[in-house]
Amino acid sequence: MGAENQEPMVRPADPPGDPSPFERQSGETVSEYVDLASDLDESVSGAVRFDEYAQILYATDGSIYQARPAGVVYPKDIDDVRAAVEVAVDHETPILPRGAGSSLAGQTVGPGCVVLDMSRHMDGLLEVDAETQQARIQPGIVQDDLEDELTDVGLKFAPDPASSNRSTVGGGIGNNSTGAHSVRYGITDAYTEEVKAILPDGSLLHAREIVLDSEEYDEIVSKDDREAEIYETVRGLVEDNEAEIEARYPELKRRVSGYNLDRVVYENDGGEEVINLSKLYVGSEGTLGVIVEATVGLVTVPEETALALYFFEDLVDAMKAVPEALEFDVSAVELMDDEVFRLAAESDGYSEYAEPIPEGTAAALMLEYDSELHDDFEAAIEATNAHFVEEGDAFDVLEAYTDGDQKDIWSLRKAAIPLLMGLQGDPKPYPFIEDATVPPEELAEYVVGFEEVLEDHDTSAAYFAHAGSGTLHIRPILNLKDEEGIEKMHSITDDVTDLVLKHHGAFSGEHGDGMARTEFNPKMYGEDLWNAFKQVKTAFDPEWFMHPGNVVYRDSSEDFGPDNHRGVGADMRENLRYGSSYQSLEPQTKLDFSDEGGFSHLVELCNGCGTCRQTDENTMCPTFRASREEVQTTRGRANTLRAAISGELPEEEIYSDRFQKEVLDLCVGCKGCKSDCPTGVDFAKLKAEVKYKYHEEEGTSLRSKLFGNVDRVNSIGSALAPVSNWAQSLPGSDLIAEKVLGIAPERDLPKFSNETLVDWFESRGPKVAEADAEDTVLLFPDTYTNYNYPEPGKAAVELLEAANVHVRVAVGEVAASGRAAFSMGLLDEAERRAQTNLDALLPYVEDGWSVLFVEPSDAVMFQDEYVDLLDDDRVQDLAVAAYGVCEYLNTYRVTDDIEFDASDEYLTYHGHCNQKALNRDHHAAAALSAAGYEVDALDSSCCGMAGSFGYEAEHYELSKAIGEILHEKVEESPGSEIVAPGASCRSQLGDDDFVGERPAHPVEKLREALA
Ligand SMILES: Cc1cc2nc3c(=O)[nH]c(=O)nc-3n(C[C@H](O)[C@H](O)[C@H](O)COP(=O)(O)OP(=O)(O)OC[C@H]3O[C@@H](n4cnc5c(N)ncnc54)[C@H](O)[C@@H]3O)c2cc1C
Ligand code: SF4
Ligand code: SF4
Repeated sequence: MGAENQEPMVRPADPPGDPSPFERQSGETVSEYVDLASDLDESVSGAVRFDEYAQILYATDGSIYQARPAGVVYPKDIDDVRAAVEVAVDHETPILPRGAGSSLAGQTVGPGCVVLDMSRHMDGLLEVDAETQQARIQPGIVQDDLEDELTDVGLKFAPDPASSNRSTVGGGIGNNSTGAHSVRYGITDAYTEEVKAILPDGSLLHAREIVLDSEEYDEIVSKDDREAEIYETVRGLVEDNEAEIEARYPELKRRVSGYNLDRVVYENDGGEEVINLSKLYVGSEGTLGVIVEATVGLVTVPEETALALYFFEDLVDAMKAVPEALEFDVSAVELMDDEVFRLAAESDGYSEYAEPIPEGTAAALMLEYDSELHDDFEAAIEATNAHFVEEGDAFDVLEAYTDGDQKDIWSLRKAAIPLLMGLQGDPKPYPFIEDATVPPEELAEYVVGFEEVLEDHDTSAAYFAHAGSGTLHIRPILNLKDEEGIEKMHSITDDVTDLVLKHHGAFSGEHGDGMARTEFNPKMYGEDLWNAFKQVKTAFDPEWFMHPGNVVYRDSSEDFGPDNHRGVGADMRENLRYGSSYQSLEPQTKLDFSDEGGFSHLVELCNGCGTCRQTDENTMCPTFRASREEVQTTRGRANTLRAAISGELPEEEIYSDRFQKEVLDLCVGCKGCKSDCPTGVDFAKLKAEVKYKYHEEEGTSLRSKLFGNVDRVNSIGSALAPVSNWAQSLPGSDLIAEKVLGIAPERDLPKFSNETLVDWFESRGPKVAEADAEDTVLLFPDTYTNYNYPEPGKAAVELLEAANVHVRVAVGEVAASGRAAFSMGLLDEAERRAQTNLDALLPYVEDGWSVLFVEPSDAVMFQDEYVDLLDDDRVQDLAVAAYGVCEYLNTYRVTDDIEFDASDEYLTYHGHCNQKALNRDHHAAAALSAAGYEVDALDSSCCGMAGSFGYEAEHYELSKAIGEILHEKVEESPGSEIVAPGASCRSQLGDDDFVGERPAHPVEKLREALA
């Protein structure tokens, strides 16, 4: 397959758009690294960042560890990687390659390292060979993106870590990743055929199958260079340690601890003995060189699957059933226990999935059957039912044949980690021995032993995950902010590693060694293999520059390798993210953070899982999608904020221009993270609170005041229309707006309507008398609907009246919702408005009226933010009575009370992020469908406009880039007309660069469809 450095063939290596316009990491280089950073800058074409924020952003991954690197480089190609490695080595600085940084054991954390972020530019699919079922990739390609690219050829990369929507294939090779289907497909080492890697001396090693003692092999080893040294060393070590390899590497579907000395020499399909160093790169965690390209094997995609979930009254009985399940040609065997079900049942997001779980369930085993192994699912499940229910210990079974039913069961299974990590308080279920693996037939005894270890340490844990391959994700609940908790962690690990060895297992069967488990590798492999590991490391990396101290370490600087301290020692208790000296500020807050356990607790809920780097599904996080910058993820923001409240950065940093601009202002406040972040890190709320503090300390800019009080501006503008509209269109008015207020000249400000919604309604009055009505509602005249775009408001009134609802437009004592003020952090303003509205509307609510909103962000303001803003018990009553118009119609009216006769138009629906965050966004699409339209509801993120964000000159480019991502989804949709309830979304989509015409609000289409 193809030549080096070849341009990607199938998809661009760069993210959509050029990220450079959004480059925000602008701080000064940390003085210690000025020379290194400047030499890198001169040698590398990609960006080089050695400022404090960059260090903080790359100091953590998905693990319990934290250590600042020296800085980060974003290589654009192989030459950049080579140059970066050479410069780092010249400066005696260790090197750490990184993908999405979603690792769970700390293997993406490297104190003082030069981090090479391979995910930004080197993410191309270079070549696919459908015949040989192989793909050549760059390491930074995200697993799900690769899968998407391969859909057309009906192939996929088989290892399927749960993190596949953001984790890279390079990171998967680094960790030897796998997922729920390892029972069927094995793990990454089985699919890694070739690797090209830059070694610390700058040379490129092309690791591939080479027949031992062939001409090719002899030629390689005849040279006097690093490659020859590596081949000779590795071959010698494998031969010399044959017996130990046989004895020490357990027979498991998954074993990812240590180096793969057991897999590097083997017999190929042609019966020849080969050496393939790419197998050694798998699981090497960045310690043997920087992978710049890989060739991976692919498998065909089964067309259909079915699931059966077996319920047991006893966890150990469920474990005993695992080896039997494997006899039935299943493609996955997954475990969930009662703790997972309990948490799911108590949570808002997952309770519906827990409903079918029968009472008395202590554990459930989920079996998957695929169409490549079974042509009759019902017969296959009948056979397992007979075995497990009729003759075995299971007391019930749930069968799932449709995609929807299967998705629900998988959702429950995948909810385990987020549910556990969302636990309030400092004791948390931390990952450190969470992927130990034993042969399935030993699981039952292993679980009993594990329980004893937990009891000895006075703690507990949930049991779930990949039982079929012997891997259970057990996370003991500990407080790692105190010494006792940290010591317990070490002691538990010591005991569990003994237990695992007793049961012929591996300390890691999925997530790797990292800082958590490297310390214990000598225990697992014994002295001879441990020494062999050190020799492997030294052969590839004589000076131990590559991510030293991971997978393998040295006892002292005299031990193996160079005369320096790199890679000396390993102690899982060091470099902890928290630790006993960790302290964070718990500021007095304006908003109520009691539901989240306090402000700092909400910040600390970010565990680094990286889900906010996903680029396709859900809402979170639109700014990362457009920029591909870590600082623009929810994680990046939460990490930087945590640094500021925990003393990593000076406390006053929060008030710095840089913090405001890079960490806060680029968050569009879409609330996507509130629902999509598995632990619910609601950054929009954090941002509002911190902005509030900033205004208190530093004052408020004219623009913030203007946008935060947009209701007042609009009321004046509307009163003066059409003169105000004419003034906006005067030549040069855009430049004045830019100069004075920082408003993007490219944007047209909303036009003012001559007649407001309130005026219109007052002149016509209600058409359904209160006495004759089915229900009584107040329509809230939100700022945009009232002053700028009354048409959707009129449509809402007419629709509601068609459903025999008595409607009044709320007037008199009501104020604007305060959404704009809230977004700007003007929380006193927002609170005043909230209080005014509560006082004005509550009497109606108490009389049974509902309060309806055309504008989703205002509806959500009442439903969610008011509860945080007001210290008034009555606010919940108002929140419960508040609805988006479509939400109300769909919940109470559409199907029974209104007659529709919709055209056969196919509508594309883009929902509002704020409503998605509260899981209320589906109502509009449902109402449109009920009215008779065909609807394609987009799985779209933010539109990029986000209230005032898109109008702000400095955010214009980013706003347009986010809008472009939405526009692409619209273009791909089969719908012929786009509808969107958000006023901002309609402005953005209506831009000439996108749809070119302001879309309708769903209520306008519903009115159009009235019979
Ligand atoms: C919620 C959650 C669920 C997870 N589920 C699973 C699961 O089901 N199965 C599983 O296996 N893992 C799982 N993981 C762990 C992790 O996501 C996977 O191992 C993933 O494959 C890592 O990919 P990444 O791009 O994030 O790699 P990173 O974390 O960035 O890197 C992983 C390792 O590879 C090295 N590396 C990265 N790129 C290169 C390169 N170009 N050259 C050399 N070395 C490199 C790094 O130095 C590091 O040591 C999960 C993590 C989380 C947070
Ligand atoms: S913000 Fe949420 S999704 Fe992002 S890394 Fe943190 S916990 Fe994961
Ligand atoms: S509110 Fe939106 S933009 Fe801000 S961090 Fe959350 S998902 Fe990202």
